[in-house]
Amino acid sequence: MDHVVLTGDRPTGPLHLGHYFGSLANRLALQGTYPMYVLIADYQVITDRDLPGEIQRNITELLLDHLAVGLDPARVTIFRHSAIPELNQLLLPFLSLVSVAELRRNPTVKDEIAHSSQQAVNGLMFTYPVHQAADILFCKGTLVPVGKDQLPHLEMARLVARRFNERYGEIFPVPEAMLGERPLLGGLDGGKMSKSRGNAIPLRATEDETAALIRRARTDSERLITFDEEGRPEVANLLTLASLCLGRPQRELADEIGYGGAAALKRLVTDAVNEFLGPIRARRREHTEAEAHAVLEEGNRRARERAITTLDEVREAMRF
Ligand code: ATP
Ligand code: MG
Repeated sequence: MDHVVLTGDRPTGPLHLGHYFGSLANRLALQGTYPMYVLIADYQVITDRDLPGEIQRNITELLLDHLAVGLDPARVTIFRHSAIPELNQLLLPFLSLVSVAELRRNPTVKDEIAHSSQQAVNGLMFTYPVHQAADILFCKGTLVPVGKDQLPHLEMARLVARRFNERYGEIFPVPEAMLGERPLLGGLDGGKMSKSRGNAIPLRATEDETAALIRRARTDSERLITFDEEGRPEVANLLTLASLCLGRPQRELADEIGYGGAAALKRLVTDAVNEFLGPIRARRREHTEAEAHAVLEEGNRRARERAITTLDEVREAMRF
């Protein structure tokens, strides 16, 4: 099958190892084989906070993160929400295809509300999964490399595609999620590694910053290191980080550390992560901010062209 790949991130902070093993690795594997769109979801930033914060800086860093891991702008279209007004026009008819009960049921939205810094939940928090359906469907995306938290949103996009097709005629393919090697990487506090939760190892962190972050990670006082995801989630998380970076099973690493305790575990994880991030850090230094912005300008132009075509088709199907 000929796929179109679409995926994206919120510009709420630098990309981290969770992104790498949840989605970036698949982006790298698919680029060049299929057309690929990577979205910087700037309107999605204000779902769980009042102000967008350092959004321009975050966008620049996000672009540099992508260039640093090896995404090739000649083969991939990188664009931002706010440059494509057609996405907002797709949102409106798409909203009419889903019920309020369906919007309320979304478990990822519930989790994000629980972690939100806002006093009251805003309307965008409930509707952004439908905006995301527009993000995927505007380019007739069929394959979406994401982490596990995105599966409910993918279901929403599939629902919107099917219902639109039923009501107005076949326009949209029904997209599929593609989960990464580690679809839900834990952070340094045991919860989901997240940009906004202060528990992540950013791809751009220096060796010293990485060491400091891992030193502060939660563990337990048991000296014998074992891999037990249920009983010792924090230790298991650290072993998983090292395992992904080294390409070796967690249990083998635990046996090697034996009675070395948390100190030896953290040393091993730090070395593994630093070795893994070495080439990414080096590639980052090869790119400038000006280059990153030129990549975005060109991506915005290409994505907008695509969006205009789809919106025309949608309007025609709806007899607007
Ligand atoms: P924020 O805390 O601001 O929401 P985030 O870390 O959750 O940031 P997103 O921009 O929301 O990152 O997600 C971008 C992509 O990365 C999504 O496909 C998401 O599923 C994936 N992803 C995010 N965190 C993880 C994780 N810990 N493990 C695997 N995949 C992840
Ligand atoms: Mg998120």
